[in-house]
Amino acid sequence: MTRSFPLFLALFLCAGLLLAAPLGCASKQAAGDDAAAPACVCEKGKQGENVWCESCKVGYVDGKKVKCQDCYKAKTGQGPACTKCKQS
Ligand SMILES: [Zn+2]
Ligand SMILES: [Zn+2]
Repeated sequence: MTRSFPLFLALFLCAGLLLAAPLGCASKQAAGDDAAAPACVCEKGKQGENVWCESCKVGYVDGKKVKCQDCYKAKTGQGPACTKCKQS
């Protein structure tokens, strides 16, 4: 009976390491993905907020979609009028 005790402990430790290793990797990968891709804020724009979505490269002003960042800045007072687009 006394011989089986250390063997049981060794198996228990091995199982613990096997379970802990994948969990550690998963949490590191998730944090890296969050840092690489900017968060999509299109939902906020659709709800009426003035936002520029860095993830989709589109902006929203008063709930309207703006595809040009310079136009978005001009409409929100963050920059001069856009010269790239012909505004009607
Ligand atoms: Zn978006
Ligand atoms: Zn423009």
